[in-house]
Amino acid sequence: MVSVKIDSVSKSFGNVQALKNVSLEIANGEFFAILGPSGCGKTTLLRIIAGLEKPTKGRIFFDETDVTDVPAEIRDVSMVFQFYALYPTTVYNNIALPLKSRGLSPSQVHERVEEIAKLVGIENILNAHVDRISVADKQKVALARAIAKQPQLYLLDEPLTILDPVSRVIMRAELKRIQKELKQTIIYVTHDQIEALTLADRIAVMNFGVVEQVGTPLQVYDYPETVFVGWFLGEPGMNFIEANVEPDVLKISGKTVLREREVFEDLRSKGYERVLIGFRAEHVKISKTPSTYSNGKGVIEGVVRVVEFMGTYYVVDVESDGAEFKVKIDPRSFSSSSIKEGEKVWCTIPLDKILFFDPNNNKRIN
Ligand code: ATP
Repeated sequence: MVSVKIDSVSKSFGNVQALKNVSLEIANGEFFAILGPSGCGKTTLLRIIAGLEKPTKGRIFFDETDVTDVPAEIRDVSMVFQFYALYPTTVYNNIALPLKSRGLSPSQVHERVEEIAKLVGIENILNAHVDRISVADKQKVALARAIAKQPQLYLLDEPLTILDPVSRVIMRAELKRIQKELKQTIIYVTHDQIEALTLADRIAVMNFGVVEQVGTPLQVYDYPETVFVGWFLGEPGMNFIEANVEPDVLKISGKTVLREREVFEDLRSKGYERVLIGFRAEHVKISKTPSTYSNGKGVIEGVVRVVEFMGTYYVVDVESDGAEFKVKIDPRSFSSSSIKEGEKVWCTIPLDKILFFDPNNNKRIN
């Protein structure tokens, strides 16, 4: 296995700048996710690492070796795509072919096919033709074939996207187990935040060809460095509201949100008169009785606009002087008769769960 260094990589296709000065370091044995919306440049970056695409600018290193000009066939990587491309033969042969081309003897091939099939969980369908197996099993065969190549690096491009929702959840858990046993460097491209958050050691969040943040799942979820990262992660994404920093209060339009002196002094000393406050829907406590200000919490008065039942939780849309935000409520602590559309509510947020962002560049201040 190898470490991977992406050093100031840019890529243009005509007028489209798919990657803008991307730098990343992926450690040996790390499960690293590249997460972002469609078109943000994830696949282009993966193809550049594989050697299938040349960067317009920048270099790629495997350990200390500069591989930027090394052809794909000799980079020793295995790629698994969203749309598997299997040989039209049995599952067994699909796994055996890469082993044979590595020069293993027939008995070694047989032993290894059985080992890999067991690891991936397809030992019972080895004799089946790939045309006759389920989509989830096909993706497992593609993974087994990638493992058979025994590469120094695995590149996975949305391997679960093609699966139905139930198979996806099962395969996600399977992938986690397989990675633990493989202990190999894996770079995993996805637009699905749950996959990235549950599988990866670290995540790079991308938007419009730029890496907005790199961190552990907890870091990127709890402390987004940009508005985009906060908004993109979470169900629903982080709430952002513009607020005025006054000498001794923080206000949304005319309404006071915070009275914590240290907060305004700090923001004003940095020259901010307006900020974006960011907070997650699940950190808000909603009440129909007025909340008083006390140290360590912010209070936003508002009116309930919409109440939605999402299956395992409720989402309440609250409006406060034109600003809208979402509150997430556990059904056990919520009865739909208790909070109704049109009602006045007080929403409290612990101060340590409120983040401040610069409205000019959308970057986190604190
Ligand atoms: P998706 O999840 O939809 O595949 P992505 O994040 O993987 O999206 P890329 O496929 O890397 O994004 O594409 C990034 C940008 O580069 C897009 O605007 C895309 O249209 C453009 N692009 C990618 N490959 C090419 C190409 N071969 N020729 C022209 N433009 C391309």
